[in-house]
Amino acid sequence: ACLEQIRKHDGEVGAFLKVMDDKALAKAEEVDKKRKAGEAVGMLAGVPVAVKDLLCTEGEVTTCASKMLENFVPPYSSTVVKKLEQADAVIIGKTNMDEFAMGGSTENSALGKTRNPWNTSLVPGGSSGGAAACLAARMVPLSIGTDTGGSIRQPASFCGVVGLKPTYGRVSRFGLIAFASSLDQIGPMARTAEDTALFLEAMSGYDPNDSTSANVPCPLFTQTVDKPLEGLRIGLVKEHFGEGLNGEVEKAVREAVAVYESMGAKVVDISLPHNKYGIATYYIIAPSEASSNLARFDSAHYGHRCDEATMLEELKAEEDALRAAGKEAELKKLDTPLIRMYRKSRAEGFGPEVKRRIMLGTYTLSAGYYEAYYLKALKVRRLIREDYDKAFKSVDIIMGPTAPNPAFAAGSKTNDPLAMYLEDLYTVTANLAGIPAISVPCGMTSEGLPVGVHMQAPALEEDRLLRAAYMFQ
Ligand code: GLN
Repeated sequence: ACLEQIRKHDGEVGAFLKVMDDKALAKAEEVDKKRKAGEAVGMLAGVPVAVKDLLCTEGEVTTCASKMLENFVPPYSSTVVKKLEQADAVIIGKTNMDEFAMGGSTENSALGKTRNPWNTSLVPGGSSGGAAACLAARMVPLSIGTDTGGSIRQPASFCGVVGLKPTYGRVSRFGLIAFASSLDQIGPMARTAEDTALFLEAMSGYDPNDSTSANVPCPLFTQTVDKPLEGLRIGLVKEHFGEGLNGEVEKAVREAVAVYESMGAKVVDISLPHNKYGIATYYIIAPSEASSNLARFDSAHYGHRCDEATMLEELKAEEDALRAAGKEAELKKLDTPLIRMYRKSRAEGFGPEVKRRIMLGTYTLSAGYYEAYYLKALKVRRLIREDYDKAFKSVDIIMGPTAPNPAFAAGSKTNDPLAMYLEDLYTVTANLAGIPAISVPCGMTSEGLPVGVHMQAPALEEDRLLRAAYMFQ
């Protein structure tokens, strides 16, 4: 049924970069046989799952939606993919995303367009746009996303599905192609809180292959998700309801908060004074880490390689011209073929947003600017975290909008990177602090577009978020 739905609608939605029909059907049959033979099956037995195309899948192309990795076939699977396979899930395909997860609309994909199933002239959000769109279009019940600054939660909000960014360290990043290693988290996307709980339980847990993996027992989220939270204290951040917030989004979120109040929750007004530096801090730290992580795509070990013959011919033509003009000194300064190959391959392989991030990150890490930008950003990151620590002394959950606006028109922000970055206003601080956060559908705009309410909790308290989400549903 899922394959049929993909066949019918993915031409228009464009959620998938690749659908693994044969493998999926074979796995489904294998699980079915096991079940019929009375053998034990895993917790996701036979459930079709979509995987964002930056998680390594052994023997299957893993592209990061980049020309750089268009033909990259990983020799191993990421821990999360392995866990899902062990749980007997059926991996059905790889979803589209912003190139290397950099973006908020999936328009930075070099390999395809994804549209919002609610209205195909709009973006699905990003970077996990394909992951959210395939859920909204009822192509799969579960979908894996990743979130460095909001990439699970913002597309979940735009597409009317649930998306949870776990605590940093809760889910192993082994086999995830890194964007910004201190911020990246893999997480579940689904249509209900219960499904999200099941999926998170299946993918979480300590992994010695990831040095930042949290060595703590993983709660059984499925057993607690339907238990209501008594005496819930909800924090509303005054800085979240100011300038830049769309009126209809605000209304839907406030109505959601009122629903909790009617169930006995208490609302407390709080302040996160350093919140306003979130975007600036994130857009220094994330590009810095990205510029370093992406250095590995050197066209020798991984990734796209330019046409060497042309490159050598160009080099020879330059040499000949300089020699003919007698410019011996300049001749000596020419780059070696290896450096040319590196430069040309990267120029061809990376898209404009990825190049922008590499430039920004290289600048903020360079001698003389490191202290002024990167080091300062690290200090502000600490202050942002301390704001949360303080706030969580008086509230259990912080609620607010996931994104300042509902889904926007395709093309409307592509020429204005700053406008695109501002969409991350409410989400980046959870990544900077390493805390878990979820987006839950809470209403509609007058144009019938979904709005998500954003909830944040202290580290390792995903259980609280899932229960709160379940209460609302
Ligand atoms: N939109 C943010 C960015 O472009 C977040 C991306 C993400 O979480 N992967 O960096």
